[in-house]
Amino acid sequence: MEKQVLIKLQDIGKRYVIGSEEIFALRGVDLEIYKGEFVALMGPSGSGKSTLMNILGCLDTPTKGSYILNDTDVSNLNDNELAEIRNKEIGFVFQTFNLLPRSSSLENVALPLVYAGIAKEARTTRAIEVLDSVGLGNRMYHKPNELSGGQRQRVAVARALVNNPAIILADEPTGNLDTKSADGVFELLQRVCKEQGTAVLFVTHNPELAERCDKTLQVIDGKMV
Ligand code: ADP
Ligand code: MG
Repeated sequence: MEKQVLIKLQDIGKRYVIGSEEIFALRGVDLEIYKGEFVALMGPSGSGKSTLMNILGCLDTPTKGSYILNDTDVSNLNDNELAEIRNKEIGFVFQTFNLLPRSSSLENVALPLVYAGIAKEARTTRAIEVLDSVGLGNRMYHKPNELSGGQRQRVAVARALVNNPAIILADEPTGNLDTKSADGVFELLQRVCKEQGTAVLFVTHNPELAERCDKTLQVIDGKMV
């Protein structure tokens, strides 16, 4: 199958101003990610990885450059338009899980479908299906504090997948996990994304995991190297 471009960044820059100080978090980043591609993003702390993820995830806008996502130019959209694209195209997985503490796995996973305007019964059916696919069919009614770290991150992966996004942005998703759980979450992401044809951008400091991705990007001091 021919590779289709999902994401194309050209000359993306991000400048923060704090008082009289300017910080150039990104300095002219070019990047392409194909549909269904599993990409590792590496780089030292403070190099701009999270800034890049926030821009890719339409949580933040660049100060220069262009961003094409699934044939849409998202560089100049307003907040409402960005929110819509985010809900439809992007799933997030964070290092700290970011689950609602008082809600069950099922409620956490179904939540993005509420924002997508899906009816209750269909939400539950879909959330159960995805929880099953991440191996948590027997943990539907557990709350986050009744789950292990690895299980919590599986819930977060299920939540990211539930809308069938074009890409999952995972910012150090295995950073808080022991080696065995980290491996499990990594393999889960690889498997489910291959099954659904979802692309993944996976931030990691672990060269062994990066080696197992389709390609590795390296950002240093706000630039791709
Ligand atoms: P990484 O995720 O690779 O550790 P970040 O993208 O978080 O790096 O940060 C890149 C640089 O931008 C750092 O120097 C950081 O201090 C700065 N930075 C990040 N977010 C902000 C912000 N909201 N305001 C000001 N500076 C920021
Ligand atoms: Mg970061």
